Amino acid sequence: MSEPTAVEALSPVAGLLRDLKAHLAWQHDDAGAQLYGTREELRKPVASPPGPATEPVTAPGRPAPFGDQLGLLPAAPEPIRPAPRTLEEIRGELGDCRRCKLCQGRKQIVFGSGNPRARLVFVGEGPGAEEDAQGLPFVGPAGQLLTKMIQAMGLRRDEVYICNVVKCRPPGNRNPEPDEIAACEPFLRAQLHGIGPEVVVALGKFAAQTLLRDSTPITRMRGQWRVYEGMKLMPTFHPAYLLRNPPGEKKKAWEDLQSVMAALGLQRPARVP
Ligand code: URA
Repeated sequence: MSEPTAVEALSPVAGLLRDLKAHLAWQHDDAGAQLYGTREELRKPVASPPGPATEPVTAPGRPAPFGDQLGLLPAAPEPIRPAPRTLEEIRGELGDCRRCKLCQGRKQIVFGSGNPRARLVFVGEGPGAEEDAQGLPFVGPAGQLLTKMIQAMGLRRDEVYICNVVKCRPPGNRNPEPDEIAACEPFLRAQLHGIGPEVVVALGKFAAQTLLRDSTPITRMRGQWRVYEGMKLMPTFHPAYLLRNPPGEKKKAWEDLQSVMAALGLQRPARVP
């Protein structure tokens, strides 16, 4: 971990410049790979053994919660939290999922990847073409930017966990539809409870609106700490949005990630190219 240098300790401007460098680093294509400094592993201690067998992810009788992009969300009561299950168990229950029409066009289910005991989880929208082909989340262009964002936080992808609201690619990368989100959301919820991170970062409106059941636009929700079933949640912009929009939006996303770093007690990387 890097301590502020003597110059930075004396001069807030020097610290700000270092922040700016980290921010600029993931705006440039070749920057991410060089961002590692010494840092503690972002890993929780080994979890105690899971408790007794729990209800399946999609227990009958429990209404499937889902985000509503049309502003028609029902008021959600405080949900009963599922007992944690392992990611393997959850993946097993998902199986060769046929619960919604997205199964028809997918090549692979993109369940999620990373550290099953991560303190930090990123939730995106749904797989794109590259993710569908590889079976891994965020490996296309938006994924490359997300990787740089993670590295700018002084972390590696395998220290965090990355998944999506829907696990199958919507045809032509269209938005996921409410019935598709409803079918998949119980598995996302189970993943989050299985991992039990300290912080969830909701990337973009679908992740934020689904998890929070709040149809507020992401432009207004981002940067404000929320709570998702006992976990701190930070809504921020989706990397694909950042790729399409002016650099000022990246600055806001970086501010959000700095709040996340502060919540996790993470220092900025020592070396920023
Ligand atoms: N966009 C997402 O939301 N998720 C991915 O996995 C890739 C792109």
